[in-house]
Amino acid sequence: MKPSFFDYTKEALAARITPSFRAKQIYNWLYVRYAQSVDEMANLPKPMREALANEYDMMPLRILKREYSSDGTIKYLFALRDDKTIETVLLRMKEEQIDCNGTRTQHAKYTVCVSTQVGCKVGCSFCLTAKGGFVRDLSAGEIVAQVVAIKKDNDIAPERRLNIVYMGMGEPLDNLSALSDAITIFADPEGLAISPKRQTVSTSGLSTKIDALGKLDTGVHIAISLHAVDDALRTELIPMNKAYNIASIIDAVRRFPIDARKRVMFEYLVIKDKNDDIASAKKLVKLLAGIKAKVNLIFFNPYEGSPYERPSVESVKAFADYLIAHGLLATIRESKGIDISAACGQLREKEMQTL
Ligand code: SAH
Ligand code: SF4
Repeated sequence: MKPSFFDYTKEALAARITPSFRAKQIYNWLYVRYAQSVDEMANLPKPMREALANEYDMMPLRILKREYSSDGTIKYLFALRDDKTIETVLLRMKEEQIDCNGTRTQHAKYTVCVSTQVGCKVGCSFCLTAKGGFVRDLSAGEIVAQVVAIKKDNDIAPERRLNIVYMGMGEPLDNLSALSDAITIFADPEGLAISPKRQTVSTSGLSTKIDALGKLDTGVHIAISLHAVDDALRTELIPMNKAYNIASIIDAVRRFPIDARKRVMFEYLVIKDKNDDIASAKKLVKLLAGIKAKVNLIFFNPYEGSPYERPSVESVKAFADYLIAHGLLATIRESKGIDISAACGQLREKEMQTL
């Protein structure tokens, strides 16, 4: 298989082609003009276009399916070049802006939730992605192309600001080298120009890899999928917790370079009668003492045959109220796209059953 242009940082691409300054022009075609073929790259000499087309592929994925939610969320199912499938979600939040004349306008604020692997090795008991096992890592290009394909599909202007969350299928820190290239490619000011400050890596808590990501000093944010406050329950939910327990994760978070104005996000999947009690909230407050943290409460989203149940709205609200009353920042994640198989992995699973 030919390499894809999307796999390379601008520096790496410049090192591969002569003359190297053309890398900048290619980047502009890929990430600003959403070119679909090398032939469109009109400012490259024809012989160079022909040589490049022989050597490189463009998009490493294609849209197989879209699901639209009434709240504006769109979930994509992509096929990769080897026909493996992944999911990506475009989230739109309405943002009100008031200009200097006092005129109010509504703007969509975009966030793309990208996948980093086909399947996942971590094997969480509540997660559909885990059920299919691990298939393979995505390349940097396959991560980046999810965003380019979605921007093109929705006619999102290149200069529109957009956030990236690495919260789709897979464990990003299990694919650290592709992840770190993707962070760099996304951030390139001559490409998509998505600053690392607008990128959040969500991890199930591989402490040593949290350290490794911190050492790369990319400037990205991290979100920790904590989900439980004691090791016994966390190990039931995330078997890997046996090797990387809660204390080791909290230590790694304390060492992670964090922008002084930002907070580490702790995701807490609320599961009925498992971790939705006030005693757990109390332990969470203790656990996060002294950390600039923000807790994001997520409703467990049941699927056919899932071993757990969705918590009541009252219990999640009471949990959030307790955290807030005890000085923690806490939000309840809106169930975006709940009508379209919300949690990642659910659309892919549905497709595989019907294939
Ligand atoms: N592997 C990384 C990032 C991807 S998981 C991690 O675990 O952090 C994507 C997100 O989906 C996680 O926050 C996870 O908690 C959530 N998720 C998985 N299954 C879910 C379900 N059934 N209901 C609600 N959220 C779920
Ligand atoms: Fe993997 Fe995250 Fe799903 Fe756990 S929740 S199996 S780490 S994708």
